Amino acid sequence: MEKQDHVHVAILPLPAVGHVNSMLNLAELLGHAGIKITFLNTEHYYDRVIRHSSDAFSRYMQIPGFQFKTLTDGLPRDHPRTPDKFPELVDSLNCATPPLLKEMVSDSKSPVNCIITDGYMSRAIDAAREVGVSIIYFRTISACAFWSFHCIPDIIDAGELPIKGFLRCRDLPSFCRVNDPMDPHLLLFARETRLSAHADGLILNTFEDLEGPILSQIRNHSCPNIYSIGPLNAHLKVRIPEKTYSSSSLWKIDRSCMAWLDKQPKQSVIYVSFGSIAVMSRDQLIEFYYGLVHSKKSFLWVIRPDLISGKDGENQIPEELLEATKERGCIAGWVPQEEVLAHSAVGGFLTHCGWNSTLESIVAGMPMICWPSFADQQINSRFVGEVWKLGLDIKDLCDRNIVEKAVNDLMVERKEEFMESADRMANLAKKSVNKGGSSYCNLDRLVNDIKMMSS
Ligand code: UDP
Repeated sequence: MEKQDHVHVAILPLPAVGHVNSMLNLAELLGHAGIKITFLNTEHYYDRVIRHSSDAFSRYMQIPGFQFKTLTDGLPRDHPRTPDKFPELVDSLNCATPPLLKEMVSDSKSPVNCIITDGYMSRAIDAAREVGVSIIYFRTISACAFWSFHCIPDIIDAGELPIKGFLRCRDLPSFCRVNDPMDPHLLLFARETRLSAHADGLILNTFEDLEGPILSQIRNHSCPNIYSIGPLNAHLKVRIPEKTYSSSSLWKIDRSCMAWLDKQPKQSVIYVSFGSIAVMSRDQLIEFYYGLVHSKKSFLWVIRPDLISGKDGENQIPEELLEATKERGCIAGWVPQEEVLAHSAVGGFLTHCGWNSTLESIVAGMPMICWPSFADQQINSRFVGEVWKLGLDIKDLCDRNIVEKAVNDLMVERKEEFMESADRMANLAKKSVNKGGSSYCNLDRLVNDIKMMSS
């Protein structure tokens, strides 16, 4: 057996759809390069998602040496594990993980010789150091969001947090909207991002032509060894051409929307989705609904069963909106998003700007309207609108007239301008993951480094 066949990497994402899916993409790429993978999930996430997605996951089991393994997140069974409890989850997982990682490293049959964890696992860095294996971080956010998290301590030191009037607070990560600079959420993001510098490398799902200047900043001031290997979804298609769409989710994919899209004219539909976690009030839903209907465009809208929060305005959806939906709308609980974005009938994406959705839209050459909800999404939206010119950032505004105007600006008035810049960036994204491109070369370097670190 060749030396490289012995390389065994443990991969640990945080238990959330966006994190797990992008780390599964990474796992598949590394598995394809001949590296044995143990993919760790918390018991809670495995029971809720992975166990029920056997179709989507059967293909990982065909990768030689690939295995799933579960670990406890250390929280009591009845803990809600909701996004607002994120710091508790991260702290608990950070405490629960080191013993298992150390055990895996000292396994007599197939020891782990490199660890890749999500970027909030600083205790895993300590554990890796103790047992003498390399550890690489994978942050599933954009480089611009990473850099903004990195700068939080400087903003606090400068006395700018809590936010003063003149700072553009709407563009800062949502957790900066605090009255107390000692807020646990804020401190967690700031602390964990700064500790990234202690890992042996940092993998980012981005590409040099998109975020080159910010990647340089991070290399110079935080982590010198960055592997920018994205967009991962496009990269997978190059390295593993037979790959078909798949993603884990809490919800069953409704494919009937594809038949509906087939019947719509080219670039006539606005696709609307706010990802797997963001929630909105019923009143906000109605504002979006009116905005979409008044825009006169057809729409495909993902309304997850848990999208609506709170109890305000529990009245029914007005009849006129339901009528308009029958005429030119399609509502689904969960769709095959990459396929939807690649469909010729779709001409725009109203998104919360989660990083995976943003990248998937960039790869598909799809202009965006951004309505960021939380965490890194404000930064991504700002960059989509102001830096990359790939769409319109409506920020936290939720008003039917603004939505209607944004849809018309994106898909009618300024359609050519946005389509042109989206096309340009899509081509650069594809170039980066093709042979000789920056992400392609960085992935080769990552694979070689892992094999070297493990020898
Ligand atoms: N997604 C999907 N179907 C849907 C909505 C979303 O497959 O109906 C996928 C989408 O393709 C993306 C992920 O869910 O890969 C959402 O990740 P993102 O980082 O955009 O947002 P998050 O859910 O983490 O807020």
